[in-house]
Amino acid sequence: MTGNAVLDAITVDASIGRAIPDAATGETVGCAPVHTVADLDAAVAAAGAAQVGWAALGHAERSRVLHLAADEIDAHAEELAWIIAREQGKPLNGAGARFEAAGCAVWVRSAADTVIEPEVLFEAEGTRSELHYVPLGVVAAIGPWNWPALIGIWQIAPSLRMGNTVVVKPSSFTPLSVLAVVELMNRHLPEGVLTVVSGNREVGAAIAKHPGIDKVMFTGSTETGREIVRGSAENLARLTLELGGNDPGIVLPGADVAAIAEGLFWGIFINTGQTCAALKRLYVHDSVYDDVVAALGALAESVPMGAGTSEESLLGPLSTPQQFEIVSRLVEDARARGARVVTGGEAAPELGAQFYRTTIVTEIEDGAALVDEEQFGPVIPVIRYTDLEDAIARANASEQGLGASVWGDPVEARRVAERIDAGTVWINQHGTLNPMVPFGGVKASGYGLEFGAHGLKAVAAPKVITV
Ligand code: NAD
Repeated sequence: MTGNAVLDAITVDASIGRAIPDAATGETVGCAPVHTVADLDAAVAAAGAAQVGWAALGHAERSRVLHLAADEIDAHAEELAWIIAREQGKPLNGAGARFEAAGCAVWVRSAADTVIEPEVLFEAEGTRSELHYVPLGVVAAIGPWNWPALIGIWQIAPSLRMGNTVVVKPSSFTPLSVLAVVELMNRHLPEGVLTVVSGNREVGAAIAKHPGIDKVMFTGSTETGREIVRGSAENLARLTLELGGNDPGIVLPGADVAAIAEGLFWGIFINTGQTCAALKRLYVHDSVYDDVVAALGALAESVPMGAGTSEESLLGPLSTPQQFEIVSRLVEDARARGARVVTGGEAAPELGAQFYRTTIVTEIEDGAALVDEEQFGPVIPVIRYTDLEDAIARANASEQGLGASVWGDPVEARRVAERIDAGTVWINQHGTLNPMVPFGGVKASGYGLEFGAHGLKAVAAPKVITV
């Protein structure tokens, strides 16, 4: 017994489960079941059997049930937040674990309340063609470890609302957060409608080509996304792919540095940099470069880092030992190329084995791995530019196209935003999401949209009825 009733409800005996470590301390948070491909087959069969009845309930009844599920999440939000804070490592406060737990209920309600009406496409001379959105069948949801509960909900809630049933496979690094949110929802959903298969990559690979799955909602790396596309050649499952990002930010000449510094900092360091649409390479005009670096450096040194469960922390550990290694390697490579580490640039072992200090790197150019690759950690390369055309070209040179931002005069920033290749371009902010506003990437960041009416249509089959 842990004192956390939701954790107690999902954790299994150590003899049959896999111990999941606290990202900050390495202590065991709980044990997750280890499901196999046979468990996946059983879950897909159950989801297939439950789907007809769930679809037959209709939008109003499904929305009512989803509201009960959202209320349940809210009622246990603190327990859920503690599981996320320990397993994934993000601090309880700031845009952290409490924010993630609260967001789960917000997104469930939004999926339940968004109106989808049949569209009249053509009406004349006694003919009428209507476009309806009908369920696809069984949707598989495969998620990453960085925002495990919230991203799970982004996949699950619209799918259920549209009359599909769902089999969800969490990242093997963060199964407890997903098991917890599903446990809460399943207190209200009919049997078989939502099942977790807590398995490894082998189970993930089996999902992509499973004959009983009609759609895969995938959020994770571009590399795994490509494997899912190959797998779906067998079952022709539809795909929504939310893949990696290497979001550029451009600070314009004359930007008010004091006014934008905090927004820049959190656009970069939200979830300790482990966010798909975080700002990952910052292009700053020569005229404000030194001021931006000084402002970011001051924040980097003053914003408290520590265990997720500490009420003081606003930045946390890297979630996994592998991610810690990636971040360390990228900073060492930058140093070896002659880049300057303004602050940070090393591990913080006094905090725990997976902590890396908040790091600002200057005197660095495109071509360095820290600029060209997704660092996914508390490190930002700040690149000096003199010619705005050159900065736009460099921002667009990446194979990724998830998010981007432009900082400074809003009129000029808007002109620049129109020329950036990304699914979302923010002005004087970065990474803010809204359940009613569609989100998705272009280029190697994937395809398909989530959220709002666009997101609901993405988990439905368009069907035309012509009278
Ligand atoms: P990952 O690709 O390693 O894993 C994601 C999920 O895929 C996990 O559940 C994993 O077990 C599963 N998986 C692994 N191999 C598989 C296979 N062959 N077939 C099917 N499933 C398989 O990604 P990660 O390291 O967990 O997450 C970090 C990445 O996710 C970053 O690149 C980040 O930018 C991206 N991300 C994107 C978004 C977005 O909305 N675009 C959001 C969050 C994270």
